[in-house]
Amino acid sequence: MKTVDSINFSNKRAVVRVDFNVPLNDKFEVTDATRIQAAIPTLKKILKDGGSIVLMSHLGRPKDGPTNKYSLKHIVNEVNKQLGVLVQFADDCISDAAFAKSSALKPGEVLLLENLRFYKEEEKGDAVFAKKLSQHGNIYVNDAFGTAHRAHASTAIMANNFDAASKCFGYVMANEIASIDKVLNKTQKPFTAIIGGAKVSDKIMIIEQLMSKADNIIIGGGMAFTFIKALGGKIGNSLCEDDRLEVAKELLAKAKVNGVNLCIPMDAVIADSFSNDANTQEVSIDKIPDGWMGLDIGKKSIEYFGEVIKKSKTILWNGPMGVFEMSKFENGTKQAAFDIVAATKSGAYSLIGGGDSVAAINKYHLADQVSYVSTGGGALLEYIEQGTLPGVRAIEG
Ligand code: AMP
Repeated sequence: MKTVDSINFSNKRAVVRVDFNVPLNDKFEVTDATRIQAAIPTLKKILKDGGSIVLMSHLGRPKDGPTNKYSLKHIVNEVNKQLGVLVQFADDCISDAAFAKSSALKPGEVLLLENLRFYKEEEKGDAVFAKKLSQHGNIYVNDAFGTAHRAHASTAIMANNFDAASKCFGYVMANEIASIDKVLNKTQKPFTAIIGGAKVSDKIMIIEQLMSKADNIIIGGGMAFTFIKALGGKIGNSLCEDDRLEVAKELLAKAKVNGVNLCIPMDAVIADSFSNDANTQEVSIDKIPDGWMGLDIGKKSIEYFGEVIKKSKTILWNGPMGVFEMSKFENGTKQAAFDIVAATKSGAYSLIGGGDSVAAINKYHLADQVSYVSTGGGALLEYIEQGTLPGVRAIEG
């Protein structure tokens, strides 16, 4: 894999696609700088070599061109702070003024371009726009894993304008790719995938992919009830996608044929309303009375899943086991997180990916006790589903 380590950036100008799509409050202050922090090691390596940097990113989803709300000028101070360098700003990404600024950069200097998505051409993957962006530098670095599943101008298309020796991955991308590779290709057995969250429909493709790779697939969260109903159980008012019952049956059958241990919860914490103040009880998951809904897995399931997790040598976790945002229904998710940590301590490789499992591992302050926490939910899922991503192919060829 070609990373920034294989290039000497001395006197070179690197155009670096980063993911600075950070949350801002009403005063336009950055409320979570994780994505900026993540890019710093790549940027420091380039500056240490004696290179200069043109930073490119998107912010939010602007619909009609430039809008103050989505201006990257709001994040300049935070980038200054994290990088320890005074970053210049160009209020348009392809104007003459922007090119004047980029071409005047001296070694050690950094320029941030305005939001790429102020141009519709960015998301369309327009080749002319991509060509213009590439003229900001002589080396292209992609470190934006969060958008690597999009064939946008800056994330994939502009790589065509650089030869193989002049494009590479930043450390964020490299670490993400290496981590997925450990789970999918250099897999130590047994491999357990824990898939939860709200909807089966969002996770069908990933479960299908994992059927040929995983030894155990644990199903939790709201999506478990579609499986329970498909098996003939009574699920009361629990979340269910009736149009996916056939798919659930097919997945159950496929698991049998492939010899995959598809672990479905046997009990559930049920509630009489979707609220932390609801009345609750614990019942067999296929005997949920009408008017009640399953919002977490029960104790027996936690114990069973825990045994499987702790015997695993490779673990992928995507999606919570219940409505972990409410304290009454967080136990399944919390215990899964602690079981993953225990397995990791015993030598397993654990990858946590996808928005809500990342939120969960952070909620329990366990992010530093698992092997890797992915920065890109959608990109990670698509990588597993497709085996590669447009942003990865663009560099690797
Ligand atoms: P996803 O984005 O598909 O991974 O879904 C995550 C969301 O699923 C979280 O907000 C959870 O609260 C929700 N969730 C998990 N279990 C359940 C459940 N049993 N019923 C309803 N929602 C759930």
